[in-house]
Amino acid sequence: MSATIESPIIPIKSSSEPPQVITPDAATVFANRAARFDQLADGHVLGDWLRFLAELSRAQHSALTEFPLIALPDADLLARAREHRMPPLPAQSWPRDPAWRATLRQIIAAVSPLAPEVARWDLSRLLGFDNEHLDQLADRVLRTELYGEDAALLPYVGAALQVLWTAGASRLGSPAIAAIDAPGVCPCCGFLPVASVVRHVGEVANLRYLHCALCNTEWNLVRVKCAACDANENIGYRELEGEGLQQRGAVRGETCESCKSYLKIVYTEKGGVDPVADDLATLALDILLDEAGYSRSGPNLLLIPGG
Ligand SMILES: [Zn+2]
Ligand SMILES: [Zn+2]
Repeated sequence: MSATIESPIIPIKSSSEPPQVITPDAATVFANRAARFDQLADGHVLGDWLRFLAELSRAQHSALTEFPLIALPDADLLARAREHRMPPLPAQSWPRDPAWRATLRQIIAAVSPLAPEVARWDLSRLLGFDNEHLDQLADRVLRTELYGEDAALLPYVGAALQVLWTAGASRLGSPAIAAIDAPGVCPCCGFLPVASVVRHVGEVANLRYLHCALCNTEWNLVRVKCAACDANENIGYRELEGEGLQQRGAVRGETCESCKSYLKIVYTEKGGVDPVADDLATLALDILLDEAGYSRSGPNLLLIPGG
């Protein structure tokens, strides 16, 4: 059960300057996430759910492996995006390739046999929706309207959209994407971060990278700074105390008194953590921060709010 997790690929550059933007590695991003979910599930009170999310991540990995070569912005468009410091694959306006719907159906087929009964009902309903209905759900996810009617269906839609955007981001590659003027949103797709990660190896050692909730791109943001409002004063850190947390990696909530928001930071000594999986394995920290009056500044697309 305890699959090993490869360390993320860290781009080697000749200069000593660390990369501002790191696009995902399509070959490993979802496979590593699946392995991390399995690892976190052992002995966890939410173990069954985390194991189901491991299967969902494996289905994303398979879907991405077989994903068609979709059209990407050409060199002119990319140059213009860089010049104007705009994300090249904007979540709300990049023409969405219909391949994402085939990916959704593929993911549903893969996870349905393993899903709890209530989720199986949701999945069979999703399979019955026509293209227009599915696109409406996708629009909701991309506008981060993750509540209301059929909110329980949105994590699967989000999972398929993650595959589409990760395919695009990984093919564009880090050099194609410039840092943008809004430090709290993804320079590749303009979406919000799920969490940030501080690794202790390679040229990115001790630097903080925000991790995109949609396309899995990471971008550098100085430490002790609010990702939501840029404040760098009155930033605090909260963490859970208790047994077994060490093996889950150190996860803290970075809180901001200016805008009363928070985002988690995942710290890792040896690699192996995953911002999406480690975030969901520490929901108790979200409850603690919610009770303390802070609201999350970025979504986790695999989470059903209140679910
Ligand atoms: Zn992104
Ligand atoms: Zn703030």
